[in-house]
Amino acid sequence: MERIPVSGPWITQKEIDYVTDAVTNAWYSNANCYHERFEKAFAQHLGVRFAAALPSCTSAIHLSLAARGIGPGDEVIVPDATWIASVAPVNYVGATTVFADIDPKTWCMSAESFEACITPKTKAVIPVDLYGSMPDWDTIRALADRHGIFVIEDAAEAVGSEYKGRPAGSLGDAGVFSFHGSKTLTTGEGGLLATNDEPLFRRALFLRDHGRPPGDRMFFNTETAYKYKMSSMQAALGFAQLERVSELVGRKRQIFDWYRRELENVKGVTLNTEPPGTKNSYWMVTAILDPSYGLQKAALMDLFASESIDTRPFFHPLSSIPAYHDSEQARIARSRNPVAYRISATGINLPSALNLDEAKVKRVCDVFKSILKHA
Ligand SMILES: *Cc1c(COP(=O)(O)O)cnc(C)c1O
Repeated sequence: MERIPVSGPWITQKEIDYVTDAVTNAWYSNANCYHERFEKAFAQHLGVRFAAALPSCTSAIHLSLAARGIGPGDEVIVPDATWIASVAPVNYVGATTVFADIDPKTWCMSAESFEACITPKTKAVIPVDLYGSMPDWDTIRALADRHGIFVIEDAAEAVGSEYKGRPAGSLGDAGVFSFHGSKTLTTGEGGLLATNDEPLFRRALFLRDHGRPPGDRMFFNTETAYKYKMSSMQAALGFAQLERVSELVGRKRQIFDWYRRELENVKGVTLNTEPPGTKNSYWMVTAILDPSYGLQKAALMDLFASESIDTRPFFHPLSSIPAYHDSEQARIARSRNPVAYRISATGINLPSALNLDEAKVKRVCDVFKSILKHA
């Protein structure tokens, strides 16, 4: 039986042509031509002033925190359920991670829990547009503004999502994206930082090139910093994918719709939501199982795997994993965040690769229904 992968890209001749052009011509005086095209087009797509292409979303979060001067003694609030990349950069700069609970419907950071986590030491918050879903941005933004908290929107999973007509990645003081091979728009590995804040952007450009101002010809570094750059082959791939972004997001929404039609009437299965006023780009179709089935996510994944279907676990609460488990903040979070623990326990990501067709989605759903019937 053909294995059904959980994620993967959609590459066409356009991508091959642009990358071929980059590897052939983007050298010497043309070395930056694809970076310039990609960054300008991405900023335009978001409606923001500045964008910098980077090697990963992790580096984009690190640069945002570093450019804002966040460090030891500062607290940064993050949702408890997300990929560790949203949070690890807080540790890179020596600040303290504070884990907020998630919302039971959107699965993103809950605005109430965010508010409860704010202390005089809070310097930043990193809301995550989880699986393409949108948190309650109006409330989060108002709280952040009232307390002078810097907002980094982790839109790694949300290219093409919208909140009240505004694109994901444009709702924070900084917006960050991932173009990892599993993401909707890919450059193989890659990321991007978007912002309207010119001083922040200038500082990020300086920090990402070993403490050199852009255009420096004297190699006369004034600080030790980082080396976070993308190659022109990756920028060319990103530029081609960005020209196809509506097609890519349209396919994700189509895949979700195939699943929705098969699963919406199955008792005890909850899929991704799209609250009024939002657009979900459904990076990963995700199913949360009612606990009455008695199936935890690992057992469910094994049952799918035995039918050659790859799935992933809903992100574990960060306060539960070994990397954070023994921290004081993780201990507090374990009693504060019941929703993250409840949702994560029985949640899995279903195959959502861009090469899926309706027949494969049907096969996944048939297997799912048969698992539930025997549970
Ligand atoms: C993929 C992902 C990242 C990290 O992206 P990289 O490009 O691998 O650094 C960050 N946050 C979220 C929510 C992600 O899904």
